This record gives sequence, C-alpha cells and structure tokens, in this order.
Amino acid sequence: MMHLSVYPSPRASFGDISLYDLEHPSASVDLSDNTNRWGMSPAAERALRRATSDIVTRYPEAHAASLKRALADYLDVDPACITTGCGSDDVLDSAIRAFGDPGDRLAIPDPSFVMLPTLARANSLLPVLIPLTESYGLDVDEMMRTNARIVYVCSPNNPTGTAVPLTDIERIAHGTRGLVIVDEAYGEFASGSAVPLTADHRNLLVVRTFSKAFGLAGLRVGFAVASPHVIAEVEKSRGPYKVNALAAAAAIAALKEGLPWMREHVALAIRHRARLERQLQRRQIAAIASAANFVLAPIANACRLSDAMLQAGVAVRSFSGLRQVSPALNRSAGSALRMSVGPWEQVQRALDALDSARRACV
Ligand SMILES: *Cc1c(COP(=O)(O)O)cnc(C)c1O
Repeated sequence: MMHLSVYPSPRASFGDISLYDLEHPSASVDLSDNTNRWGMSPAAERALRRATSDIVTRYPEAHAASLKRALADYLDVDPACITTGCGSDDVLDSAIRAFGDPGDRLAIPDPSFVMLPTLARANSLLPVLIPLTESYGLDVDEMMRTNARIVYVCSPNNPTGTAVPLTDIERIAHGTRGLVIVDEAYGEFASGSAVPLTADHRNLLVVRTFSKAFGLAGLRVGFAVASPHVIAEVEKSRGPYKVNALAAAAAIAALKEGLPWMREHVALAIRHRARLERQLQRRQIAAIASAANFVLAPIANACRLSDAMLQAGVAVRSFSGLRQVSPALNRSAGSALRMSVGPWEQVQRALDALDSARRACV
C-alpha cells in the first residue's frame, strides 16, 4: 500500500503571508505601478544590446563591485557604504534579516508600502503598524514608542506620495537603538535625500532602486547606503551574485552616461504631476500633495472605477481598506486611486477614462 508522508510544516510566521501576485493588467495605458512610462535611457538600452555571450555564460561579480563604484560616484559616498540587490525588495529583505531576530518588532507607518508587513513576517518579525498623522506625516513619537528593533520609513511614501522631512528622520535615527530604514524608491522625484545623513547616523540605511526613475524595473536592481559597518552585515545576509550581469551592465551605463536622460524625465514627471493634480482638482477630486511620480486620490468606490477604466484600456491602482487617517480617507471609506504620471497623452487617456467611469458608476 502506498504510504503518504506528512507535509513538512513551514516557518510558523508564514501562515499569515499571502502571495504578492498582482495581476499584470493588459491595458494600452498602464499607470498602475509607478514605473517609468518614458522607458529607459538610450545608454542602458545600448548596454543591453552590446551584451556578449561571455557576459551571460560567466558569473557576475559576487558583490557587484563595479556597480558599487558607479553608485559611489553618483551618490558621492565611499563604495564601502553601498550594498546592492535583486531589486530594493531584496535589499529590504536582507537588511531586515541582518538586523532583526525572530520575534522582534518592526515599526511601519500606515498606510505605507504593502510589501513591508510581508517582509517582516517572512523573517519572523512582528509588524507594528503606526497610523500616519491627519496630514499624512509620520507620527515620530509613536514610531519611537514602539521600541522596535527596526523602524521603516518610506519617503516619498507609497501610496500617499508624501515626503518625510529630514528632521523627522534624524529624530528617529537619534531615538532608535536598532536599524532605521528609509525607503527612497521615489527619491529622484523629491528634493532632499536622506543619503547624506548616513555619514552622521550609524543606524541609518537608505534604500533606493533602478525600478522607478531609471526605468529598469524588469532588470531588478536595488541598492542602499549606510555606514560600512551596517553594509557589511547586510552583505552577509544578501549573499553573492544577487545582481545579474546584464542588469549590472545596464545599471552602470544608466549611471555613467544616462543621468541627463533620467533627470530630464524626472523633471517632466514633476511637471505632469502638478498638471494632473490640477486636472483632478477641476473634477472636485482632491489628490494628496505628492513628491513622487504618482498621485493618490481618496475617492469612493475606487475598485469599481478602476475596473471600468481597465475596460477602457487604462490601468491604474485602486486601494480599498486604507487606514482612515484623514478626513478625505474617512469620507472615501479608505478607498483611493493611485495614478502614475508619464507622457501627457497617457495621463490624458487616464483622465478621460476616469471621467467615463465616474459617469457610469454613479
Ligand atoms: C516600487 C517600490 C520599490 C521598488 O522595488 P524594487 O524591488 O526595487 O523594484 C521599493 N519601495 C517602494 C515603496 C516602492 O514603491
């Protein structure tokens, strides 16, 4: 008789984790994930086309030394202050594993990046959600009162778009014994990065990515800046070969020759963001003031609206059940639409689809 053995039990904290498996919308205009809708720099594209079989058949550099040197020039820090990873999600994961023990608390503002509670649980840490203030700012005192081993801050914050003042970040770094992570995935769109603060704050790790302003989300390259001591531990947790050879080549080209392209399109995104905010206002939709390449508009029935927009070929991201920290989120019952900016024709198509969806959904 066949004898079935029992299933092995996974890590206890995995029970609460659901797979992050967003459906890839098939839409002719996709403003749902804040990637660069203008594309990537010609320099990065050339580097990908130049790739030889030697690049692909050999292992990449174990710890992406060449990429770290290019990043060091870009950020004006020492290469020993930089780590890299397979997207910034991987850098966040490695940092949490390096600086948190199972059972430790990880303080996360709410609403913020949806991946964080999952990354906490995957490493057997306890996510502690701290509501944003009514103006979508950080509640610094409450964040510190958690006495968490790791504090996560996202600036500009996804999904609200709100930038966190550097003085708040300094206060948290000063008042926390463990690691303070500042996620600057949208840092290029904002003014004032926390990177220079890492020189004076030994517990600060600033995480960035090539997925947004640089337009390389599909290549999966993230990086972070911190004191060499912190970086050394994150690198142990990360392990070797996390940035593949093609991705490293494109990222290096994007830094060495592609910066003017990146900056030009960041400037365009910022202009289009202001224009989108005005257009929404004209429709009596108050978007939250954003420092990123997207805007969040609290609005009732966002799911139904985004479904209707998708029928018209436009993908945007809808949220439901957001914590109702503000009067606007209270009125919308925690429902909101997030729209990335890109070439204006695409944003205009999204606005037109929104107009039709609102007429159909009332
Ligand atoms: C998009 C995004 C990232 C980027 O993740 P990658 O893994 O680098 O693609 C990180 N943090 C936030 C808040 C984001 O919105």
